[in-house]
Amino acid sequence: MNNSIYNFSLPNNEPIKEYMKGSQERELLDKELRRQSESIIEIPLIIGGKEIFTGDTSTVVMPHNHKHVLAIYHKAGEREINLAIESAISAHKVWSDLNWTTRASVMLKVAELLTTKYRAILNAATMLGQSKNIYQSEIDAVCEAADFLRFNVFFASEIYKNQPISSYNQLNRMEYRPLEGFVFAVSPFNFTSIASNLNLSPVMMGNTTIWKPATTSILSNYYLMKIFMEAGVPAGVVNFLPGSGAQIGKHVIASKDLAGIHFTGSNSTFNSLWNSVGEKLAEYKSYPRLVGETGGKDFIFVHSSANPKEVATAAFSGAFEYQGQKCSAASRMYIPLSLWPAIEKEILRISQEVKMGDVCDHTNFINAVIDESSFDNIVSYIDYAKECGEAKIIFGGNYDKSVGYFIEPTFILASDPHFKTMEEEIFGPILTAYIYEDSKLEETLDLCDQTSPYGLTGAVFGSDRVAVADICNRLRYSAGNFYINDKPTGAVVGKQPFGGSRGSGTNDKAGGSFNLIRWVSPRTIKETFISPVEVLYPYMKEN
Ligand code: NAD
Repeated sequence: MNNSIYNFSLPNNEPIKEYMKGSQERELLDKELRRQSESIIEIPLIIGGKEIFTGDTSTVVMPHNHKHVLAIYHKAGEREINLAIESAISAHKVWSDLNWTTRASVMLKVAELLTTKYRAILNAATMLGQSKNIYQSEIDAVCEAADFLRFNVFFASEIYKNQPISSYNQLNRMEYRPLEGFVFAVSPFNFTSIASNLNLSPVMMGNTTIWKPATTSILSNYYLMKIFMEAGVPAGVVNFLPGSGAQIGKHVIASKDLAGIHFTGSNSTFNSLWNSVGEKLAEYKSYPRLVGETGGKDFIFVHSSANPKEVATAAFSGAFEYQGQKCSAASRMYIPLSLWPAIEKEILRISQEVKMGDVCDHTNFINAVIDESSFDNIVSYIDYAKECGEAKIIFGGNYDKSVGYFIEPTFILASDPHFKTMEEEIFGPILTAYIYEDSKLEETLDLCDQTSPYGLTGAVFGSDRVAVADICNRLRYSAGNFYINDKPTGAVVGKQPFGGSRGSGTNDKAGGSFNLIRWVSPRTIKETFISPVEVLYPYMKEN
């Protein structure tokens, strides 16, 4: 019987490997890139620990070379969805009763496998399947994924040790029960680490999940699932269910055992999931916990005291790394007229330095966008900017989908602060700037705050500390992650807990106790040592 009370200490973040030419990690990765490029694997559903091949299949291709097939995956039908629900419910009994330190050890083993034996495999799958360069894949699929696991173990231990006070004649305890039912984990294409965390943070707290991965990240997500199993996540605790989101969502949400949804993706998908849950509220055993991180229209606000070189560097990286397909990517800028010439010159210079192309050519900074529908959507904004006569393209604006879904980093100057690309989430390599007169700082701050329904990330640049503090205050609700003199992307687990409010989600800050606490339903237990045997109050017996 394990009766130890264990406190995990605060972990360190996983160090990012450099992948310099000739390094061992680079050689291993290149070998793995070749191996995965030269084979076509078959990806089954994994329900209750068993592989299921439904015969209803689709392909996984490289976004940067879309005729190249990497895998064939099987899709769930109604029978498999019901099987996954049964499997998640039956695995709940064993997993939720297990000592939490055993669950923690499984999570830590996943982190260990990710950062050692599977580092190259997961990086190669993320690079080839989601079109990320080495650095973008390393910080996501390996480092952030491992950080989520290690920090969640620490934060869980902090939650569990938080107990109510007791006094003479009584003992009070808080039991952090897992939710009663299963959690529906719905993951986006853009971060392998998010896909892992959407499952394993509820799992760390004793829950079981049904996992609907995005169809465009199935290769890396399948490897993740295999790592979970190798680390000892028992059969049925995570059920891997590729297929149509709408079909899977409809059936899963209809189950009375749905205890929660852990979602990251677009605002419209989360809204539709929330509405469907609302319609069925009376039928559930408990009120499902709805945790969702959604879109953004993230900004960089430049004060006239800013350093133009720093602004241009942050704007380029913040907007165009991973082709702008980060929920946190900078997509609108407010620049004072006095600094515009210097910032324009510098950002133009940077734009000429970067190359675009295949992920296996490690000199490429920009790779492809995820798929054809995303490509067409992003291009429609570029075409609009070219044709409407209200905007000027400073650089970029070219695109080509003949081989891969390539779109040049595109910088648009808009004369109207409400120009379409200043307002709508595009999720691609487009940054739009509005130039304001230096004397109109106040009005421009209002514009920045009120232009978008989102509130995810934002940054201010300036060296005037009084002005910066004022801007930080004025933009209090416009971003859940706010940066001073830094780009609005690149949040690190444990350092900048991530999430936004307004239309950007429920702001439960992935990778921390705010998130983990949503996956428990505490039970308070009071024990009285000597129970009373009289009902009258003492003063009633005075006479
Ligand atoms: P998406 O909403 O298209 O898809 C997300 C997931 O939902 C996919 O697995 C998809 O198959 C599934 N889905 C779609 N319809 C469904 C339904 N009716 N029922 C159940 N599941 C359904 O999003 P995406 O294109 O994969 O990702 C891009 C979006 O994600 C952007 O809006 C981005 O801002 C957002 N995002 C936000 C964060 C954050 O932390 N705030 C992080 C990453 C991505």
